[in-house]
Amino acid sequence: MNAQELRTELEAQGSIFQTSSDTEVIVHLMARAREADVLGRLVSALRRVRGAYSLVCLTHDARMIGVRDPHGFRPLVIGRLKDAFVLSSETCSFDLIEAEFIREVEPGEIVVIDKSGMTSRRLPEIAPPAFCVFEHVYFARPDSFLNGKSVYRVREKLGRRLAQEAPVAADVVIPVPDSGLPAAIGYANESKLPFEMGLIRSHYVGRTFIEPQDSIRHFGVRLKLSVVRSIVDGKRVVVVDDSLVRGTTSRKIVKMLRNAGAREVHLRIGAPPPTHPCFYGINTPNRSELVAASHTVEEIGRYVTCDSIAYLSHEGMMAAVAADRGGSASGGGYCSACFTGKYAVPLGSPDLVQLRRARV
Ligand code: SF4
Repeated sequence: MNAQELRTELEAQGSIFQTSSDTEVIVHLMARAREADVLGRLVSALRRVRGAYSLVCLTHDARMIGVRDPHGFRPLVIGRLKDAFVLSSETCSFDLIEAEFIREVEPGEIVVIDKSGMTSRRLPEIAPPAFCVFEHVYFARPDSFLNGKSVYRVREKLGRRLAQEAPVAADVVIPVPDSGLPAAIGYANESKLPFEMGLIRSHYVGRTFIEPQDSIRHFGVRLKLSVVRSIVDGKRVVVVDDSLVRGTTSRKIVKMLRNAGAREVHLRIGAPPPTHPCFYGINTPNRSELVAASHTVEEIGRYVTCDSIAYLSHEGMMAAVAADRGGSASGGGYCSACFTGKYAVPLGSPDLVQLRRARV
């Protein structure tokens, strides 16, 4: 739902139930609040909002305010650069500016940074932690730390678990670059198979599954990936990807590998099949476009024309993500609703449920 639709809903209801992260709605709520200062208005606005947000606000009186929703769906981290504090959604940005990672903003925490330093307070609402597991699987950069864990290491563990759950006799393991790389390394290490870069990615093209139109996505795959024939020709190839959403990209990859001489193509996915849309700020496809929502794994395998296909189990994913739990209070619970349909925030009032069902 866009900001305008949501605003219309809010006005019609006179009360707020929302699971979008659109910051414009929060600004409207702040403008309506009765409190005198910006911080009071922000807290007042956020008390009426349910869903996923991580915000950074700058005020006219030179304060920087960072706040994370009570469930902690999205990351927000604090760093130090000489005598200044910096806020970011991922720790990898601190490396760029040579800032030191201090800690995460905790779920439901508000940090206020001004000339005298940083103070912390909490939103009144207490909620069970529901950190987005898809950040570990796909969204976050592998050189970041999330919930006290290296994203790269978690993805490598996802690949190891996948190899334990779905081994296959093969000659070589190749990743779908770039996001499938750590899982493919984990799969190859665990299965004692050679790891090679059988697909090369052009870095001039973005992520294809979030492109809005089919035509752009299809053209994007051709531009984005090319096969190294000398690596796959005559081989039994395991292709490891981090997710399979629509299946169209995987189908093209399988075709490209066969055209380059691959004898067998075995697809291994380092996450469970996504079956439900995200209402917490990620532009994932509607349910009708999620291939796993309406097809069995075997049917998907036939569609992508591979010799075998296997996804990591939900249990395997959660075990890999929860391993080596770090020092964050938000490390306890995860949202995995796009794999299970169990949403941490209820869909809302009857009117909003109806609107949401248009997507589900
Ligand atoms: S529904 Fe999926 S993408 Fe959205 S917050 Fe939950 S795990 Fe993340």
